Amino acid sequence: MQWESGDRSNIEDMRGRSGSRMVPIGIGGFVLLLLLSAVTGKNFLALLGSGDAAPGESVGTTGTLSTSPAEERLVDFVDAVANDVQDTWQRLLGGRYRRTRVVLFRDAIESACGFAQSATGPFYCPGDRRVYLDLGFFSELSQRFGAPGDFAQAYVIAHEFGHHVQNLTGIEALGSRTGAQSASVALELQADCFAGVWGHAAASNGQLTAGHVVLEPGDADEAIRAAASIGDDRLQKMSTGRVAPDQFTHGTSAQRVEWFRRGMESGDPGACNTFVRTTH
Ligand SMILES: [Zn+2]
Repeated sequence: MQWESGDRSNIEDMRGRSGSRMVPIGIGGFVLLLLLSAVTGKNFLALLGSGDAAPGESVGTTGTLSTSPAEERLVDFVDAVANDVQDTWQRLLGGRYRRTRVVLFRDAIESACGFAQSATGPFYCPGDRRVYLDLGFFSELSQRFGAPGDFAQAYVIAHEFGHHVQNLTGIEALGSRTGAQSASVALELQADCFAGVWGHAAASNGQLTAGHVVLEPGDADEAIRAAASIGDDRLQKMSTGRVAPDQFTHGTSAQRVEWFRRGMESGDPGACNTFVRTTH
């Protein structure tokens, strides 16, 4: 995969801001602080933080950002992919498409969808229409899930933008949230298919320009490996050693690969109707 740095206009950099939330201390701790305050005359309750941050505001320190040239290059990469993905959807949807940004954070962040930790992985928040990403996820993707490569990372970003497209076009998961036949699984597989639709467009990008990507042979395999590595069945096996279809939220590895492929081969969002049950 080849790509060229853009202007980072697709990025909202919260890496220096995100951080820990107040530590829950429980009623015992609260009483202790109250006693300490009463005894010493100092307000120990201030240790708990003000707790009055506005919704959507990040709780944490606005400290200096420690970063590395490699990490900065990754930021440029995310920006280029996000830019290319959004240009593609703008072309496909015309005026219905609204551009958004990727919020980069570290460890944890407060979004319109609540408090989120990096462990939950990248996500899309319909409340503020932003994609949230901790760059650390990419090393996890390659090391823990065994899916290295820049196009594997691009697939993850494009999947989240797939949820943005669903949000803009009014596709929602009405119905059950878990289970092999759930609306949630249909929604997630469609986001995989939408990621493939972008892959198709990126594969047809002729010349490399700033803020864009061009695919190379073998790139699609990286995304397919990534899709296969984060299927519900595989993740469940990794964590509990068994597969529980009634707990599925994203679909099996085979399904994720299949829907990514459908989008990648057709380049047509209309080929991504995962809500229609195929009867045999
Ligand atoms: Zn998703």
